[in-house]
Amino acid sequence: MGVQSGLKLVYWWSQETNRSPLPVFTEETMTKRVVLSLLAFAALASGCNFKTGPLPPIDVYFSPKGGAADAVVRALGAAKQTVFVQAYSFTNKEIAVALDRAFDRGVVVHVILDKSNVGANYSDADFVAHHGISVLIDGKHPIAHNKIMIIDGEVVITGSFNFTNQAEEHNAENLLVIHDRGMADRYLANWHDHEAHSEPYTGRGEVAQKPANTRERHSKKKQGILEE
Ligand SMILES: [Zn+2]
Repeated sequence: MGVQSGLKLVYWWSQETNRSPLPVFTEETMTKRVVLSLLAFAALASGCNFKTGPLPPIDVYFSPKGGAADAVVRALGAAKQTVFVQAYSFTNKEIAVALDRAFDRGVVVHVILDKSNVGANYSDADFVAHHGISVLIDGKHPIAHNKIMIIDGEVVITGSFNFTNQAEEHNAENLLVIHDRGMADRYLANWHDHEAHSEPYTGRGEVAQKPANTRERHSKKKQGILEE
Protein backbone atom coordinates (compact mmCIF):
# COMPACT_ATOMS: atom_id res chain seq x y z
CA MET A 1 0.00 0.00 0.00
CA GLY A 2 1.45 3.36 -1.02
CA VAL A 3 1.46 6.43 1.17
CA GLN A 4 -1.12 8.05 -1.11
CA SER A 5 -3.68 5.28 -0.74
CA GLY A 6 -2.79 4.98 2.95
CA LEU A 7 -3.66 8.62 3.52
CA LYS A 8 -6.93 8.12 1.64
CA LEU A 9 -7.69 5.19 3.92
CA VAL A 10 -6.92 7.23 7.03
CA TYR A 11 -9.15 10.05 5.77
CA TRP A 12 -11.97 7.57 5.03
CA TRP A 13 -11.52 6.00 8.48
CA SER A 14 -11.62 9.43 10.13
CA GLN A 15 -14.89 10.13 8.41
CA GLU A 16 -16.38 6.72 9.17
CA THR A 17 -15.57 6.83 12.86
CA ASN A 18 -16.83 10.37 13.30
CA ARG A 19 -20.04 10.27 11.28
CA SER A 20 -22.37 11.16 14.13
CA PRO A 21 -22.28 13.83 15.30
CA LEU A 22 -20.82 15.46 12.23
CA PRO A 23 -17.04 15.66 12.54
CA VAL A 24 -15.31 18.92 13.07
CA PHE A 25 -12.05 18.71 11.16
CA THR A 26 -9.98 21.57 12.31
CA GLU A 27 -6.74 22.10 10.52
CA GLU A 28 -4.91 21.12 13.71
CA THR A 29 -6.60 17.71 14.13
CA MET A 30 -6.14 16.86 10.46
CA THR A 31 -2.47 17.78 10.66
CA LYS A 32 -2.07 15.57 13.74
CA ARG A 33 -3.77 12.64 12.01
CA VAL A 34 -1.68 12.98 8.89
CA VAL A 35 1.55 13.18 10.91
CA LEU A 36 0.61 10.13 13.01
CA SER A 37 -0.33 8.08 9.97
CA LEU A 38 2.89 9.05 8.22
CA LEU A 39 4.85 7.94 11.29
CA ALA A 40 2.98 4.62 11.30
CA PHE A 41 3.72 4.04 7.61
CA ALA A 42 7.38 4.95 8.15
CA ALA A 43 7.61 2.46 11.03
CA LEU A 44 6.04 -0.30 8.92
CA ALA A 45 8.28 0.50 5.97
CA SER A 46 11.39 0.29 8.18
CA GLY A 47 10.48 -3.22 9.31
CA CYS A 48 9.32 -2.41 12.83
CA ASN A 49 7.49 -5.44 14.20
CA PHE A 50 4.63 -4.36 16.45
CA LYS A 51 3.81 -7.95 17.43
CA THR A 52 7.14 -8.97 18.91
CA GLY A 53 8.50 -5.61 20.03
CA PRO A 54 12.20 -4.86 20.00
CA LEU A 55 14.63 -7.50 18.81
CA PRO A 56 16.25 -9.59 21.57
CA PRO A 57 19.66 -8.31 22.61
CA ILE A 58 22.64 -9.79 20.81
CA ASP A 59 26.19 -8.89 21.74
CA VAL A 60 29.23 -9.51 19.58
CA TYR A 61 32.92 -9.67 20.48
CA PHE A 62 35.92 -9.89 18.17
CA SER A 63 39.32 -11.45 18.83
CA PRO A 64 42.14 -10.93 19.43
CA LYS A 65 41.77 -9.32 22.84
CA GLY A 66 38.21 -8.14 22.27
CA GLY A 67 36.75 -9.39 25.51
CA ALA A 68 35.23 -12.63 24.21
CA ALA A 69 36.66 -14.80 26.98
CA ASP A 70 35.50 -12.31 29.61
CA ALA A 71 32.02 -12.32 28.07
CA VAL A 72 31.89 -16.12 28.40
CA VAL A 73 33.11 -15.94 32.00
CA ARG A 74 30.47 -13.27 32.83
CA ALA A 75 27.69 -15.32 31.26
CA LEU A 76 28.78 -18.41 33.21
CA GLY A 77 28.93 -16.29 36.37
CA ALA A 78 25.29 -15.34 35.84
CA ALA A 79 24.13 -18.93 35.13
CA LYS A 80 21.46 -20.12 37.55
CA GLN A 81 20.19 -23.49 36.36
CA THR A 82 21.84 -25.16 33.37
CA VAL A 83 24.88 -24.87 31.14
CA PHE A 84 25.30 -27.08 28.07
CA VAL A 85 28.65 -26.82 26.28
CA GLN A 86 29.89 -28.04 22.92
CA ALA A 87 33.54 -27.31 22.25
CA TYR A 88 36.17 -28.28 19.75
CA SER A 89 39.13 -27.06 21.76
CA PHE A 90 38.91 -26.22 25.43
CA THR A 91 42.03 -24.84 27.07
CA ASN A 92 41.06 -21.45 28.53
CA LYS A 93 41.58 -21.75 32.27
CA GLU A 94 39.35 -18.78 33.22
CA ILE A 95 36.45 -20.33 31.30
CA ALA A 96 37.10 -23.75 32.85
CA VAL A 97 37.17 -22.20 36.33
CA ALA A 98 33.95 -20.26 35.65
CA LEU A 99 32.30 -23.49 34.53
CA ASP A 100 33.54 -25.21 37.68
CA ARG A 101 32.22 -22.38 39.87
CA ALA A 102 28.80 -22.59 38.22
CA PHE A 103 28.82 -26.33 38.92
CA ASP A 104 29.75 -25.66 42.57
CA ARG A 105 26.78 -23.26 42.85
CA GLY A 106 24.47 -26.12 41.90
CA VAL A 107 24.11 -25.32 38.21
CA VAL A 108 23.65 -28.47 36.08
CA VAL A 109 26.64 -28.53 33.70
CA HIS A 110 27.13 -30.88 30.73
CA VAL A 111 30.03 -30.70 28.29
CA ILE A 112 30.53 -32.36 24.88
CA LEU A 113 34.04 -32.13 23.43
CA ASP A 114 35.75 -33.16 20.23
CA LYS A 115 37.77 -36.38 20.41
CA SER A 116 41.03 -34.43 20.04
CA ASN A 117 40.66 -33.56 23.73
CA VAL A 118 41.26 -37.21 24.66
CA GLY A 119 44.87 -38.11 25.25
CA ALA A 120 46.08 -34.53 25.00
CA ASN A 121 48.18 -33.16 27.82
CA TYR A 122 46.25 -32.46 31.00
CA SER A 123 43.52 -30.25 29.59
CA ASP A 124 40.49 -28.34 30.74
CA ALA A 125 38.52 -31.46 29.83
CA ASP A 126 40.43 -33.24 32.61
CA PHE A 127 40.08 -30.25 34.92
CA VAL A 128 36.27 -30.11 34.73
CA ALA A 129 35.85 -33.90 34.57
CA HIS A 130 37.93 -34.29 37.72
CA HIS A 131 35.68 -31.73 39.42
CA GLY A 132 32.69 -33.95 38.73
CA ILE A 133 31.27 -32.17 35.68
CA SER A 134 29.72 -34.46 33.07
CA VAL A 135 32.07 -34.56 30.05
CA LEU A 136 31.24 -36.45 26.87
CA ILE A 137 33.43 -37.03 23.82
CA ASP A 138 31.83 -36.78 20.38
CA GLY A 139 33.96 -38.96 18.11
CA LYS A 140 31.40 -39.46 15.38
CA HIS A 141 32.57 -36.64 13.09
CA PRO A 142 35.93 -35.91 11.48
CA ILE A 143 35.80 -32.76 13.63
CA ALA A 144 33.16 -31.90 16.26
CA HIS A 145 33.75 -28.25 15.47
CA ASN A 146 30.93 -26.49 17.37
CA LYS A 147 31.72 -23.83 19.94
CA ILE A 148 28.52 -23.36 21.85
CA MET A 149 27.18 -22.68 25.31
CA ILE A 150 23.47 -22.76 26.11
CA ILE A 151 22.75 -21.13 29.47
CA ASP A 152 19.52 -21.37 31.48
CA GLY A 153 17.57 -22.17 28.32
CA GLU A 154 17.73 -18.56 27.18
CA VAL A 155 21.28 -17.55 26.27
CA VAL A 156 23.26 -18.98 23.36
CA ILE A 157 26.97 -18.25 23.05
CA THR A 158 28.48 -19.21 19.72
CA GLY A 159 30.75 -18.11 16.89
CA SER A 160 34.18 -19.08 15.62
CA PHE A 161 35.66 -18.46 19.07
CA ASN A 162 37.15 -21.62 20.58
CA PHE A 163 37.32 -21.64 24.36
CA THR A 164 41.09 -21.23 24.26
CA ASN A 165 43.76 -18.67 25.14
CA GLN A 166 44.90 -18.78 21.52
CA ALA A 167 41.45 -17.62 20.36
CA GLU A 168 41.37 -14.81 22.92
CA GLU A 169 44.95 -13.57 22.59
CA HIS A 170 45.98 -14.12 18.97
CA ASN A 171 43.36 -15.39 16.52
CA ALA A 172 40.84 -13.48 14.42
CA GLU A 173 37.54 -14.72 15.82
CA ASN A 174 34.01 -13.62 16.58
CA LEU A 175 31.65 -14.50 19.41
CA LEU A 176 27.91 -13.85 19.63
CA VAL A 177 25.95 -13.80 22.90
CA ILE A 178 22.31 -14.26 21.91
CA HIS A 179 19.40 -13.85 24.34
CA ASP A 180 16.60 -15.82 22.71
CA ARG A 181 14.69 -18.76 24.20
CA GLY A 182 13.57 -20.10 20.82
CA MET A 183 17.14 -20.13 19.56
CA ALA A 184 18.33 -21.74 22.80
CA ASP A 185 15.75 -24.53 22.33
CA ARG A 186 17.03 -25.27 18.83
CA TYR A 187 20.66 -25.35 19.95
CA LEU A 188 19.76 -27.56 22.91
CA ALA A 189 17.94 -30.04 20.66
CA ASN A 190 21.06 -30.25 18.50
CA TRP A 191 23.20 -30.63 21.64
CA HIS A 192 21.10 -33.67 22.61
CA ASP A 193 21.45 -35.12 19.10
CA HIS A 194 25.23 -35.13 19.57
CA GLU A 195 24.91 -36.36 23.13
CA ALA A 196 23.12 -39.46 21.83
CA HIS A 197 26.26 -40.70 20.03
CA SER A 198 28.89 -39.36 22.44
CA GLU A 199 30.87 -41.28 25.05
CA PRO A 200 31.57 -40.26 28.66
CA TYR A 201 35.01 -38.99 29.57
CA THR A 202 36.16 -39.27 33.15
CA GLY A 203 39.64 -37.86 32.95
CA ARG A 204 42.88 -38.00 31.10
CA GLY A 205 42.82 -40.52 28.29
CA GLU A 206 39.92 -42.54 29.64
CA VAL A 207 36.58 -43.17 27.99
CA ALA A 208 34.26 -44.80 30.52
CA GLN A 209 31.16 -46.93 30.23
CA LYS A 210 28.23 -44.96 28.94
CA PRO A 211 25.65 -43.90 31.55
CA ALA A 212 22.05 -42.95 30.85
CA ASN A 213 22.03 -39.85 28.68
CA THR A 214 21.03 -36.47 30.06
CA ARG A 215 17.52 -36.67 28.59
CA GLU A 216 16.93 -39.88 30.53
CA ARG A 217 18.63 -38.48 33.62
CA HIS A 218 16.55 -35.30 33.51
CA SER A 219 13.42 -37.37 33.06
CA LYS A 220 14.36 -39.64 35.97
CA LYS A 221 15.26 -36.61 38.07
CA LYS A 222 11.83 -35.14 37.41
CA GLN A 223 10.26 -38.42 38.47
CA GLY A 224 12.38 -38.46 41.62
CA ILE A 225 14.21 -41.61 40.48
CA LEU A 226 17.62 -40.00 40.20
CA GLU A 227 19.42 -37.43 42.30
CA GLU A 228 21.67 -35.08 40.37
ZN1 LIG B 1 28.00 -35.50 17.07
